[in-house]
Amino acid sequence: MCCWKTIKSNRINMKKKNEKLTSEQKIILFEEGTEPPGSSELNYEKREGTYCCANCGIKLFESSYKYESGSGWPSFFKSLPDVFETKTDHLLGYPRTEYHCKNCGGHHGHIFNDGPEPTGKRYCNNGVCLIFEPKN
Ligand SMILES: [Zn+2]
Repeated sequence: MCCWKTIKSNRINMKKKNEKLTSEQKIILFEEGTEPPGSSELNYEKREGTYCCANCGIKLFESSYKYESGSGWPSFFKSLPDVFETKTDHLLGYPRTEYHCKNCGGHHGHIFNDGPEPTGKRYCNNGVCLIFEPKN
């Protein structure tokens, strides 16, 4: 149980919580859950636009940063500048870099080092944590 305690105490404090979220969104954003792979329709979103935080609405990704990773989750090779803070979790027994919205503290996903050029990063984002706003 000591591990669980450590994880809890490391948790980034929430600044504000949108009460309109679904229970699935709440679990992923605030309990660091993960949606089933392939479950998000944003996997197939190809339009031009912006991806925003489902909790606070701040802009996180441009559609031009999105790519098809084959992972089953919406994937981006970078984010807009300075929108996330990261921490390391050990929930699966090995270190992973998880990222949170800097504005509200909501958990979005994990960053891996197997992304495409120019960054080599893969932001593996839960689709339910994002709101897509098409251009125009
Ligand atoms: Zn947010």
